[in-house]
Amino acid sequence: MTRVVKVDPLFPDERSLREAADLLKKGEVVVFPTETVYGIGADAYNEEACRKIFEIKGRPADNPLIVHICSFSQLEEVADGYESFRDFLERFWPGPLTVILPKKSQRISDVVTAGLPTVAVRMPAHPVALKLIEMLGDPIAAPSANLSGRPSATSVEHVVEDFMGRVSLILDAGNTPFGLESTIIDLSREKPVLLRPGPVEVEKLKEFFPDLVVPDFVKKSEFRGKPLAPGMKYRHYAPSKPLILVENLEKMKDVLREFPDHVVICVEERKELYRDRIVIGSLKNPYSIAQNLFAALREAEKREKEYIIVEGLEERGILFAVMNRLRKAASRIVR
Ligand code: AMP
Ligand code: MG
Repeated sequence: MTRVVKVDPLFPDERSLREAADLLKKGEVVVFPTETVYGIGADAYNEEACRKIFEIKGRPADNPLIVHICSFSQLEEVADGYESFRDFLERFWPGPLTVILPKKSQRISDVVTAGLPTVAVRMPAHPVALKLIEMLGDPIAAPSANLSGRPSATSVEHVVEDFMGRVSLILDAGNTPFGLESTIIDLSREKPVLLRPGPVEVEKLKEFFPDLVVPDFVKKSEFRGKPLAPGMKYRHYAPSKPLILVENLEKMKDVLREFPDHVVICVEERKELYRDRIVIGSLKNPYSIAQNLFAALREAEKREKEYIIVEGLEERGILFAVMNRLRKAASRIVR
């Protein structure tokens, strides 16, 4: 049986957090909010518990989890080689930034890191997530709380759609603030490499790392060969219907005609152009677009239409990350 417990996002009630921490201590899996998306977590030092996350999500074993910490002393427990990046980490943590570092294998099992010599680490800024890690006293390994391949969960309705009856406790703190997964930067290589764009924008990372490498697969999502980031070879964030991403808006009219049974996901500024539409947000507030992205994808699949058509966006700031997700979700891209 799954219990859904409401908690205040800013001042969460101790008793609910204690209950969640006790379940984690016992090797159970718990869903909790972060400032990016909902996470499905287990005690990062309990291999069996971490294995359950893969089972519940249907996640391939070669797609590693992010280890969530609440302090630099926990970073010391799980990773090596972070000392020279301390200023950088202190600038962005707690926050929506994940770093890849050489792993300390004493406590983090191969299940968590999919056998890699590196570990992904993040200190979340959400009070519920931070306090939960504090109460457990150990890091929490957690990927996004969605069935593998589906759009990430940004509200408890999404979590319930995917996991009702499959986890014992869901902490409900309402919509997640950013609505998009963390930025991932690999600091274990010679030069820092962006593996996934997110709420900490490339522009900001470059202030710290002028030599930041932004690989083609981050921009174009067309990748053949050996995946640089584990999990990359799988389709992600995908709704249950074909999604056509129209990057060249001059071709929109043709696409609408070619696929007449459609719903269009568009911005407020262009909504008058479409009859069946879901407004994702306004270009005046690009963060609103990120916040609503996954909810819009989940809503679109419920409409009684055969195709989901999405307007492409200009890749600046947070919208660079939005376009990265849309390209991975798309079954067809029109350029
Ligand atoms: P999720 O939390 O569902 O967004 O998934 C976490 C993502 O973090 C995975 O898909 C990986 O691409 C990435 N990740 C986790 N561990 C590593 C690692 N050691 N090296 C590179 N990427 C990683
Ligand atoms: Mg995910």
